[in-house]
Amino acid sequence: MHLARIPRRRYTAGPTPLEPMPHLSRALADELGGAGPELWIKRDDLLGLTAGGNKTRKLEFLVADALAQGADTLVTVGAVQSNHCRLTASAAVREGMKCRLVLEERVPGSFDPDASGNHLLFGLLGVERANVVPAGTDLHAAMEAIAADLDAQGRRAYLIPGGGSNALGALGYVACAEELMDQTFEMGVAFDRLVVASGSGGTHAGIVAGLHGVHANLPVTGISVRAERAAQEAKIHGLAQEVATLAGVATPVPQDAVVVEDGYVGPGYSLPTEAMVEAVQLFARTEGILLDPVYTGKAAAGLIDGVRAGRFAPGERVVFVHTGGAAALFAYRSVVASAVPTGGASA
Ligand SMILES: *Cc1c(COP(=O)(O)O)cnc(C)c1O
Repeated sequence: MHLARIPRRRYTAGPTPLEPMPHLSRALADELGGAGPELWIKRDDLLGLTAGGNKTRKLEFLVADALAQGADTLVTVGAVQSNHCRLTASAAVREGMKCRLVLEERVPGSFDPDASGNHLLFGLLGVERANVVPAGTDLHAAMEAIAADLDAQGRRAYLIPGGGSNALGALGYVACAEELMDQTFEMGVAFDRLVVASGSGGTHAGIVAGLHGVHANLPVTGISVRAERAAQEAKIHGLAQEVATLAGVATPVPQDAVVVEDGYVGPGYSLPTEAMVEAVQLFARTEGILLDPVYTGKAAAGLIDGVRAGRFAPGERVVFVHTGGAAALFAYRSVVASAVPTGGASA
């Protein structure tokens, strides 16, 4: 692999922290009678651009391509509380570009023009216009229509697919895999397994391709937030192979490097589950780390359940990739709020 050959913008000052989670590890080990895996976290929630998260790494490559093509407007698509749309809007601000969004109302009735969370930030970040479309709309065609419109005005659009998950965007997570392996070497910590959320797939596929490219021999578990296992594994393997080729990895990505668990989606994409709420609360109260309700809350539910069920064994060292998204928590108040005991002046 030789990523330096591919144009890239930089939106984060250095590597994101790689930290142990001693209190969470202890709390889960105590439930199991004292012995559990050692849990670590890769803090990609602390990436650059507004409020961070995994899309920042993908946008470093995608926006470099947009600039090379002379684009003046980033056009992308996402769900009504899309972190990807928030970060694309932020990258546009950083580069002095404009941003247009297509928002897919995946859950009927979920669009609320007064919503908090990411929707609030779309406005603050100066998104020019957001077209809200029903689930099942041809999203690429919707973006093409916007591009044609801009073209007629003498402007130039650059289209970014949902989640930034084409091969170019997924290179961001090839870079993350390299960064992680450098850190494990620097810090002298070896991992037995990596756990990450698996959605539009660029993150999971990029990590698999990158770890394969550096011969890390580190198994990856992707926790699906939407699709069922077989379909998601096929999608991730296809994209991992594409990005590996783009990165110059010589050998094919093995099929068995792609493992997806789909038991934590619940009733559907972005719909709350009890296990998600528990995970959000547990991370906050043991480590002071905010997860999000749509992706990392469900991925962490898979991590926690894997510990409880003995799939992540005592003595193993497991790294959880925190892909960000906490801005969406503020649009899920009724789901994640926990009452704080209150009182008057006296104790
Ligand atoms: C988009 C997103 C994911 C999923 O990443 P994909 O590359 O789309 O699979 C995970 N976590 C957060 C917070 C996200 O916004």
